[in-house]
Amino acid sequence: MIVNALTIDVEDYFQVAALAAHFPREQWDSVPCRVEDNVDRILALLAAREVHATFFILGWIAERYPQVVRRIAAGGHEIASHGYGHERASAMTPDALLADLVHAKALLEDISARSVRGYRAPSFSIGSGNLWAHELIAQAGYRYSSSVYPVRHDHYGIPDAPRFPYSPVKDLSEIPLTTVRACGRNWPAGGGGYFRFLPYALSRWQIARFNRIEGQAAIFYFHPWEIDPEQPRVKDASAKSRFRHYVNLDRTENRLIRLLGDFRWGRMDEVFRDQIS
Ligand SMILES: [Zn+2]
Repeated sequence: MIVNALTIDVEDYFQVAALAAHFPREQWDSVPCRVEDNVDRILALLAAREVHATFFILGWIAERYPQVVRRIAAGGHEIASHGYGHERASAMTPDALLADLVHAKALLEDISARSVRGYRAPSFSIGSGNLWAHELIAQAGYRYSSSVYPVRHDHYGIPDAPRFPYSPVKDLSEIPLTTVRACGRNWPAGGGGYFRFLPYALSRWQIARFNRIEGQAAIFYFHPWEIDPEQPRVKDASAKSRFRHYVNLDRTENRLIRLLGDFRWGRMDEVFRDQIS
């Protein structure tokens, strides 16, 4: 049975792109954080099943909750970077992006005493307009990136990007999120909102199909706030944003438990050891 890669993007509910307009950056310090409890629940779920995963942690969270980073590392999980402030890579100048990449890596390494090799851009924000970002990710000292979603989506994605690990620049691998081919296009099969709003059986079928047909490991991702139905609700967000953020939050934990039982899971740096230079 193929070991797939389980990844968690560690950020809080008020940092996601869909709600960005409702939580300006300068208010983040005054919003009640829920990430610590949610990460603890995830760590307990994984420990009970002896699963190790990769946590792409936001520098902003690491700075305020260093104990969360240390607990993740102590659980045997991979510490990786989700950048510092959750700004889309595509919205930053090269200098600002490089500073964000370096700052987040140094923070996570200081706190965890582990070397950080992996990076995931906020909102999969490496697209055809900013492929130069890969050069900067390598320059900042990362060895792999998991930042390109080879799908068509209104906020991210490169529909015709490679579907399997490749090396965009020297000393860096890009390990794209999992897609399945059907009807002449790529369909997202790597978790996120789709995992919440479509039936669990579809996710299971997609991952099994990907493993069988491609003979490769899939990558699945979710966020701590996705197992937290009690989080404060933003009532004046658009209907689309509210749907994307809140649909089936109360079902996600049970779905994750099924997912953990239906497949074998591991850390990015171990699952893709041969593809990371
Ligand atoms: Zn994110």
